[in-house]
Formats: sequence, structure tokens, C-alpha cells
Amino acid sequence: MPLAGDRPGRPPHRRRRTVNRDTADNALYWLERIHALPLRWPVRIMNVCGGHERTITLAGLRRLLPDGVTLIPGPGCPVCVCPEEDVYAAIRLALERDLTLAAFGDMLRVPVNAPRGEPRSLEAARAAGADVRPVASPAEAAALARAMPEREVVFFAAGFETTTAPVAAMLAEGAPPNLSLLLAGRRTWPVVAMLLASGEPGFDALVAPGHVATVMGSDEWRFVLERHGLPAAVAGFTPAGLLAACHSVLRQLVEGRAALDNCYPELVRARGNPRARAVLEQVMQVTPATWRGIGAIPDSGFALRPEFARHDARRRHPVAVDTARRRAGEMPPGCDCAQVVLGRLQPPQCRLYGTACTPRRPVGPCMVSDEGACRIWWSGGLRRARDPAAARETPAA
Ligand code: SF4
Repeated sequence: MPLAGDRPGRPPHRRRRTVNRDTADNALYWLERIHALPLRWPVRIMNVCGGHERTITLAGLRRLLPDGVTLIPGPGCPVCVCPEEDVYAAIRLALERDLTLAAFGDMLRVPVNAPRGEPRSLEAARAAGADVRPVASPAEAAALARAMPEREVVFFAAGFETTTAPVAAMLAEGAPPNLSLLLAGRRTWPVVAMLLASGEPGFDALVAPGHVATVMGSDEWRFVLERHGLPAAVAGFTPAGLLAACHSVLRQLVEGRAALDNCYPELVRARGNPRARAVLEQVMQVTPATWRGIGAIPDSGFALRPEFARHDARRRHPVAVDTARRRAGEMPPGCDCAQVVLGRLQPPQCRLYGTACTPRRPVGPCMVSDEGACRIWWSGGLRRARDPAAARETPAA
């Protein structure tokens, strides 16, 4: 029986529609229901989406939850996990080849460990004369390539399923011949599976990402309960929708059971969007992939199928990337982004948070992207711990 929108006296279809309605009344309703639960032990809930984290932080939801309930931001930022070596390769490509490099705006400021004197971001490469253009979508990258058919355009396509599906659709529909992809697509569930399989996931329940579930379906998250016995709920992006998901997993814990609840029924179906999944399947194959600062995770990446290899920038424009440079593939010195991404540290527990690292002068990717936990927490007014060294001794949860 669905838990979401569980208001007595309303028919099921009416209940489902009310879950994410963005009103103070609706948020208050779920908050009251959370506080009415007989919770007698600390609970850690991981949320796996930068959009969720933004709502949680900017609406101040953490402060409103009962003592002992902790919301932990998890691996929900594609820019943060994009391999350092891929960003470095994009920078070298833009600098060394006579082409236009298009990338999502967030990606332009992501720092890499380049040798002293070399550009350390795509933004710095642009300042050094490279033709680097920010785009907002794969369609915009395709339009850019169509507008200058004589010039090679490389689209640095980093993102989760929600970005990779439109990239796949663009290729399936026939991308311009002068457009190629530096693909860094990632799948979200394998990183959560990796955390759960570690034996120390650091959370007791999961709020699964609404946008990804819209494309891939809520059923992708069944492994959380079926293999690990933890409650899970797919959430939308309003405060009420997130509180409904929190209520769902907390109620399951109180009742001693684990289910998968769809608290985003307006858009999420069990099997997702069949057309988007079909086009992903047509264009991409699943591969092991590297996550920045974390390492390789099985089945967590996308690669172009051989039929689309002509659009693979790595084949079309190979560049000599110095793999022996210092800290290749790593986070910048002192940056705890990987631990933040995995929910093992909270942003203020990083020694650089708010000192060496701010949105104006980011050291790590989590402070660059709008979906990065450090950037979101800073934007939400959360400043650094008075004693970060002591704070590090306290687990994130
Ligand atoms: S505060 Fe900056 S350096 Fe520290 S984890 Fe966040 S992004 Fe990385």
C-alpha cells in the first residue's frame, strides 16, 4: 500500500497528487506527521540529489526535523564526481586543438591539478585563448555545431542519467557530423550500491533522486530494500515532497519494515520513461567508470556504442594527456570533496571550507557546482565549524 500522501478519507488518486504540492500547509502537514512518529533512536537519511540538497538546505528543513534525525547529502553532484583526468583532457583539447569546446557552465570553473603555470580550469584555458563555450543543454551544443559546420565542436558531456539520456537522444536523432562528445556520463544507483556493499554506508534509509527516477524508474532503487533491508522513498523537489519522503522512510523504520515508496507520483513511474530508456540503450553501453577521488565503480558509467564511435572525441581528437603529472586524478590538496560526496564528512568539516575555499575562489568541485554540497551549504548561510579539527572527529551523521 502506498504511504505517500496518506491522508485519511481521500481517494488514492487525490492523495497522490497532494504529495508535492508546494504550500506551507502541505509541508507543515508532513512535518507534524514526522514529529508524531515515536522515534526513539538516531536515524541517518541519505539524499542522493543535488536538487534535493538545495531544497533541504535553502528551506532549512534540517532544523525542523526532530532531534536525532540527520539528513546526509550524498553523491548527487555530477560535476563533483567527474574524473579530474577528464576535465584535464578537456582543457588540453581546448588548448591544443583548433576546435570549440562546449561544456555546462558549472564545469568551467572545476579545478584540476595542472603543473604550475598551466591553466587549471576550462575558464583559465578560455582566458589563455582557447575557444571554450558554456552551454545549457546537449541541444545547444548541437546548435552550436550546426551554426559553424566548418569547425569541429567537442561537447564535454558530464552528467547523470538525466543528462546522458538527452545526449543519447541527440545522437539518435542525427547529430551534426562536426560534433563529438567527451562523454563522462554516470549512473547513480551503482555508487549507492557501492556504499551499501561497503558494510559502513553511514545511513539507515534513502531518499532516492526524483529526476533520475523520472528517466530510469523507481524500480532501480529496489535493491536498497531487497538486498540491504533499508527503507527507501523517491522524492520530488518541494519541501513538502521531501518531508513526505522523510516521513515515509521514518515510518517504515518505526514499523520495522522496508519498502520502496514513490513520493513523486506526478512524474515517476516504476519503469521510468520508456522512450528515454530505449534511446539510452540504443546509443550507450554501460561500463565501469571512475568517480573523482573515489575510484572505479562497476557499471557506473556510459560509453558510446560502436555505431556512434564517429562522435567519440577521444577517438577523433586524441590529445597527449600527461598521466605522470602530480596528483593526476586526485582532489586538490586538502580538499575533502570525495568524503563529502560519499556522506562521510559534512562540508564544514573540511579544513578549507570558508577559508581557502569559497564560491568565489573554489578549491574543490563541491564548491563550484550548484549541485555541490559545499556550495549549497555555503549559499544557505552555513559557515564553518568553530573548530574544524574537532568537528572532523565527529562523524557526519
Ligand atoms: S570546502 Fe572546498 S576544498 Fe573542502 S571539500 Fe568542499 S569543495 Fe573541497
